[in-house]
Amino acid sequence: MAELYIDGEWVPAAAGGRRDVVNPFDASVVRSVDEADAADVDRAVRAAARAFREEDWARAPVRRRADVLFRVSELLRRDVEEIARTETLDTGKTLTEARIDVEDVAAAFRYFAETAGKDGGRVVDVGPGVLSRVVYEPIGVCALIAPWNYPLLQASWKVAPALAAGNTFILKPSETTPLSTLALIRLIEEAGAPRGVANLVLGSGATVGAALTAHPDVDLISFTGGLATGRRIMASAAEGVKNIALELGGKNPNLVFADADFDAALGFALDASFLHSGQVCSAGSRLLVQDTLHDRFVEALAERAAAIRLGDGLDPATESGPLSSAEHRDKVEAYFAIAREDGARLVTGGGRPDDPALARGFFLRPTVYADCERSMRIVQEEVFGPVVTVERFHDEDEAVALANDTRYGLAGGVWTSEASRAQRVANRLRHGTVWINDFHPYLPQAEWGGFGRSGVGRELGPTGLREYQEAKHIYQNL
Ligand code: NAD
Repeated sequence: MAELYIDGEWVPAAAGGRRDVVNPFDASVVRSVDEADAADVDRAVRAAARAFREEDWARAPVRRRADVLFRVSELLRRDVEEIARTETLDTGKTLTEARIDVEDVAAAFRYFAETAGKDGGRVVDVGPGVLSRVVYEPIGVCALIAPWNYPLLQASWKVAPALAAGNTFILKPSETTPLSTLALIRLIEEAGAPRGVANLVLGSGATVGAALTAHPDVDLISFTGGLATGRRIMASAAEGVKNIALELGGKNPNLVFADADFDAALGFALDASFLHSGQVCSAGSRLLVQDTLHDRFVEALAERAAAIRLGDGLDPATESGPLSSAEHRDKVEAYFAIAREDGARLVTGGGRPDDPALARGFFLRPTVYADCERSMRIVQEEVFGPVVTVERFHDEDEAVALANDTRYGLAGGVWTSEASRAQRVANRLRHGTVWINDFHPYLPQAEWGGFGRSGVGRELGPTGLREYQEAKHIYQNL
C-alpha cells in the first residue's frame, strides 16, 4: 500500500484503486500496487511545479545535483541483486540480463552526473562593449512515460538527464511492470533529492498517461513506447505546445555479407533476434543475408534457435524467458498466421513450446522465417517477439536498399570483414545506430534514437541532456 510518490511522500491512490502485477513465467501475482487516477496525477504535477519554483534544485549549483546522481549510481550498485530479481519477476527476462540493465543504469546516472557540470554554456564573441552569453536552463516539469520491456533502463534514461539539468518530474512506468521503478524512486529519495523533485504515479496509459500528457502544467513529455501511442501523445503535446521527445519502435535490419566471420555473425544474429524474447526496440528482427551464404546461415541459425533453453528467468540455466503478458503473447502469436498467409517459409518455431513446465507462462518458441519478401507484413511491422525474418540480397546496393526500406529507423547491424565496405554501408543506412561486427551495445556517452517513425529527439550523450534544457541568450551592452 502507498506506492505513489507525490511531493516527497509515499501515498495510496486517492480513490483506492489497485492492480495486480503478474509474473509472466507462471501467471502468479507478484504483488498488487496502487492504481492512480487523474486526481492523483494532478497532485503529482502540482507538486513537481511547486518544487521547480521553490526548492533548491533548478537554481542550485550543478555540483548539488551531480552529488545526488552519483549517490543514486552507488545505491543502484549496492542493491543490484535485489533490483535485478524484481525486474526478472516483473518482466520475465533472465537474471543475467536484469543485472546488466541495473549496471547500465548505474553507468547512465554516473555519466549524467559528470556531464551536467561540464555543460556551462558559451560566450559569443561580438567584440568590445558587448557581453553575449548562451546559457542552458532546465525546462521545468517533465512527464516521463516508460514501456514494459526495459522498465528500469528506459525510465532512467529520462530520469537521470532530467535531474541533471535541474528539472522536476513525474514518472509513469508501464502498468504491467512498475516494480523496479518503485525501487529507483526509493533510491532517489535516499540520495537526497528535495521534496517534490521526483514524483511517481502508477496506472494505465489510457487514464494516468493521458491525464499526465494533457496536464497544462507539464512543460515536457518524454515517451518511450509504441508508434500508435507516440502518435496520440504527440497530438496531446501539440494541444499544449509542449516540448516532446519520442523513442518509438523499430524493425531493425541485420546485414550479413558472405565474407563475415561466420561464428560471430551467427552468435550475434541469435542474440539480436531472441534477446529478451525479441522484446527489444532494437532487436535485429530483419536478417538480410548475402545469397552465397544464405542457406548455410539460415540452417545454422534455426538449429541454434531451436536449442534455446526457455524457462524461469530466475533459473541460471534459462537462456530466454517468456513474453511479458498473455495479451502480448497473443498479439505476437497472431503473426504466425499472418506470416503463413503472406507465404513466408517457417524454418523453426511458430508456436508455443510443448514443455508442460512452461504451460502456465506466456512462452513462444524462437521462430525463424525464410524466403521473406519486403512487402510482407511480418517483414514491415514490429512484431516485438521471438521472431526473425530472413531475406536474401545479392550485393551491397541491394542490401542497403532493403535495409532502408522501412518506415522505422532505429538501429541496424553490418557484418563483414572488409573495413571499407563496413563504413560505406554504415554511412548509407538511415538508422539512428549502426553496429559493425557487433549488435546491441550502446554507450551512455553516445546518442540513442531513431530516424523516420522510430522517434523524435535523442536520449543519452550530450543531446540527451539538451532535450531537458532551454537555451537562453543573454546580451549586455557594457
Ligand atoms: P506502449 O506504447 O503500449 O506503452 C508505453 C507507455 O505508454 C506505457 O507506460 C503506457 O501505459 C503508456 N501509455 C499508453 N497509452 C497512453 C496514452 N494514451 N497516453 C499516455 N501514455 C500512454 O508501449 P509498450 O508496449 O509498453 O512498449 C513496447 C514499445 O516500446 C515497442 O514499440 C518498442 O519498440 C518501444 N520501445 C522503444 C524504445 C526506444 O528506445 N526507441 C525502447 C523500448 C521500447
